[in-house]
Amino acid sequence: MTPAAVPIFVEEPTATVAAMQQAIAAGATLVELRCDRASQEITLACVRAALGLGTAGRRLHTIVTVRPLWEGGKCDAPEHDRVAMLLAALGAGADYVDIELGALRRGANVWPRFLQAREIGGGHQPKIIVSSHDFSDIPADIPAQLEALRHVPGADVLKLVWKARSVADAVTALDLMRRQTMTGGPPLLALAMGEFGQPSRLLGAAFGAPFTFATLPGTAGSAPGQPPLPELLSLYHWRGQDAHTQIFGVIGYPLGHSLSPLIHNAGLQQQAVNAVYVPVLVERGYENFSSAMDALRNTLPGRIGGLSITIPHKENALRYIQEHTGKVEPLAGRIGAVNTLLMEPNGAMEGLNSDLPGFLHALCAGMNIRPEELAGRTAAILGAGGAARAVAAALADQGAQVVVYNRTHEKADALARSLGGFRGTVTAAPWEALQGDAAKIFVNCTPLGMAPNIDTPPMPAFDFTPRSVVFDTVYNPLETRLLRDAHAAGAVTIPGLEMFVQQAAVQFERFTGRNAPAGLFRNRATAALEVK
Ligand code: NAP
Repeated sequence: MTPAAVPIFVEEPTATVAAMQQAIAAGATLVELRCDRASQEITLACVRAALGLGTAGRRLHTIVTVRPLWEGGKCDAPEHDRVAMLLAALGAGADYVDIELGALRRGANVWPRFLQAREIGGGHQPKIIVSSHDFSDIPADIPAQLEALRHVPGADVLKLVWKARSVADAVTALDLMRRQTMTGGPPLLALAMGEFGQPSRLLGAAFGAPFTFATLPGTAGSAPGQPPLPELLSLYHWRGQDAHTQIFGVIGYPLGHSLSPLIHNAGLQQQAVNAVYVPVLVERGYENFSSAMDALRNTLPGRIGGLSITIPHKENALRYIQEHTGKVEPLAGRIGAVNTLLMEPNGAMEGLNSDLPGFLHALCAGMNIRPEELAGRTAAILGAGGAARAVAAALADQGAQVVVYNRTHEKADALARSLGGFRGTVTAAPWEALQGDAAKIFVNCTPLGMAPNIDTPPMPAFDFTPRSVVFDTVYNPLETRLLRDAHAAGAVTIPGLEMFVQQAAVQFERFTGRNAPAGLFRNRATAALEVK
């Protein structure tokens, strides 16, 4: 099983031992003792203390790192002393020591001394990591850097780290690790730092990484982008990843509040699917989307089964599929937005929009009717953005009479004009004309009422009656002010979470070919929103 190493900044032994115990309690079997600022005496005391730590049958392993200023660390000791400290750690029982490629270049006799110290090693067969870091950018000469690491004779682990500028840089890291496993040489840990590099940290075990780094909750990591250990182990199923693990994910920007990884991973794990679902941050703009997709498809062919697409890339996804001769479901094409991308091992793609069936399913379940029974019913949609477009198309496709009310009337008009030709009709009306008796079904597709502005409902509820159906696509809070007021007026109310759950269920079924555990999705999402 691939370990996850918890970095611990060593200052003195008592606090370090406490941190190591905390790491063990959180499930770690490996810690990185960052001794940049520690004396040799304290470093060795911590290494020896670690030898006595662990859980039943599983000793805690250690990496000792003393990163110099010139490689982005905090150690300002003379190079000779720094090297001596690492050599002493090898002899004292460290399982790994990390020495920079730059240090080997600076001193011709450094590497032979490490090999000699490893040989003596104290019987515990220590290993030497040879590393190279770039904290500011991705090196232009990655192949040359990797080649230089490979040429260090007898290195046990190679480590190449850089700052990611986009997800393509994370994909490069995964690909390098995969290729290295095929050489029969020492394993490579390639990491792309920062928010865009996340996939290289979350998916390493599926691409042959010897380990990765993860933080204890509430503590700082040793490099940007390290995930919290509990998240890595349980949410991203780190210990279950292998070379056959299929990859799913959500592309968007920002993604900090996305519930999709939470519920999709829960579903994959409950159904024992060997797959993991990760956030893939891609900055706004078609060029960014297109180059991220090219990198994912060309560099990791066959590994990615599908992607959820969220703001601001739903239109970009449609364009990308069209430009790459993929298939687009007719309704997704009509509304001009794709939120689900299915990817075949042969490179073929299909785009659909699960917001439509997700909305319809939630609405019909809430009204206790079949979708066909929507024909002829009146619906008022509040808002004319992406969600409104999907909702209007879903309703009109079933034959409903839809009126779109929007703050910016021209946008409502444009939306209505673009959705002609359905069984039902879509027209626009001024925002000010909206009243509680304007229709049978009301759907809020504006962010009004969303946290933190929870007391700003999109419309007053005084005209609602027990015959009204009020659907709020906003799902944070779970019960919005609009829904509370409508419920008090006796209306049927349907929360936005149901649409989110059902659209994710459609995605899950298309991704995996299995029935989606919608109840599990609902419970996990509800629990996450309740603590927010
Ligand atoms: P969008 O494309 O940005 O559209 C937002 C719409 O809301 C626009 O029509 C905008 O009017 C209107 N609006 C924004 N602020 C307003 C205000 N202060 N007063 C009146 N109108 C206002 O966003 P979207 O993607 O359609 O998403 C809208 C909401 O739907 C989101 O907040 C989200 O909560 C919800 N949603 C839920 C799900 C789900 O699964 N439950 C899925 C997607 C979306 P203008 O045209 O005048 O700017």
